Amino acid sequence: MTDPAGAVLTGPSSVGSGPTEADWAAAVAAVRQLPADGRVLLICHVNPDGDALGSMLGFGLGLRRLGVRRLQATFPGPPELPEPFHGLPGLDLLVPEAQAYPDPDLVICFDAASASRLGALADRLATAGTALVLDHHASNTRFGGIHLVEPTAAATSVVAEELLDRLGVPLDAGIAECLYVALSTDTGSFRFEATTPAVHQMAARLLATGLRPGEISRRIFDHRPFGAVRLFGEVLGRARLEPAAAAGLGLVWTYATLDDLDRHEQRPYVLEALIDSVRCTAEADVACVVKQVTAGQWAVSMRSKGAVDVSRVAVALGGGGHRFAAGFTGLGSAEEVVGRIRELLDDALIVEAGQERPRGVSGF
Ligand code: 5GP
Ligand code: MN
Repeated sequence: MTDPAGAVLTGPSSVGSGPTEADWAAAVAAVRQLPADGRVLLICHVNPDGDALGSMLGFGLGLRRLGVRRLQATFPGPPELPEPFHGLPGLDLLVPEAQAYPDPDLVICFDAASASRLGALADRLATAGTALVLDHHASNTRFGGIHLVEPTAAATSVVAEELLDRLGVPLDAGIAECLYVALSTDTGSFRFEATTPAVHQMAARLLATGLRPGEISRRIFDHRPFGAVRLFGEVLGRARLEPAAAAGLGLVWTYATLDDLDRHEQRPYVLEALIDSVRCTAEADVACVVKQVTAGQWAVSMRSKGAVDVSRVAVALGGGGHRFAAGFTGLGSAEEVVGRIRELLDDALIVEAGQERPRGVSGF
């Protein structure tokens, strides 16, 4: 996902601090104490984005370097990857979920804030010998046994890199490319608030393995079929601006249907980039794209420029995410789904103690 997540820990979704030394030690031990023929299953969240796939495959390549041979990576849902990820190193680790070890010695989850993001694969949390969770969502529910959840990390790949380092695995170009795709995805190409000096230092370590950032960025961000360009034109053309929403901070939203995809002969993943074109609207703090999954079911992406905690809205509607990037599954018509969001926005304004109200807010 594109993830303008702040490194900010205030707010109702905060779960406190990141991993302790004991957590890191437990994670290292879980890997080091694997039997020689131990089976390891890596799982990332449904509809995997750059951070989910990149942190999972990069870590998987690291485990391979450590000598782990019985190693699979998977995610719930159709075993189909968005085209931008077709060149990622480590894809040979991927298996369809139906072929994933039913009772691995170790399961490791990547970038999933809750067990529900693992779909049917969530049963491995019970059948695996040990369940290790690498994540950076403040809303992480602490599922699994060992938690490496760092809400201040810009991406799950930051946690993955640290664990590889603690395991003594040096970065090579394959591992680095995966982790770089993950880091650049979740920082919006190093543009969002979470882009700290430490993020750039990590990027420098990754690039030093010989990566070509221009080529990687073009592949991941700046590359889509002409049909998708025309589809974007149509979907953006029907975007609606509601300046009064979110207590006057403004909401901009649009929707895309399965019929839109069909007419332009496009796969659903192309719609993931749409939110970036919608959220640049100057007149709105909150942006939303409602993407049809089946009749009456929509995958909703929300973004905020900083005055609204969209994760509060998403959690209230059964989803999750970060303060400034969140989502959920909506039912009904697109209008109805947006109606529910609109109702919750006024209560999701961020007013820090000692700060003035966000600009544009009137009368409360
Ligand atoms: P995106 O809009 O890029 O799909 O997702 C933005 C953020 O919201 C990500 O952190 C993602 O994990 C989270 N998110 C999106 N959809 C859902 C959902 O249906 N459930 C939950 N729990 N989180 C979601
Ligand atoms: Mn992430």
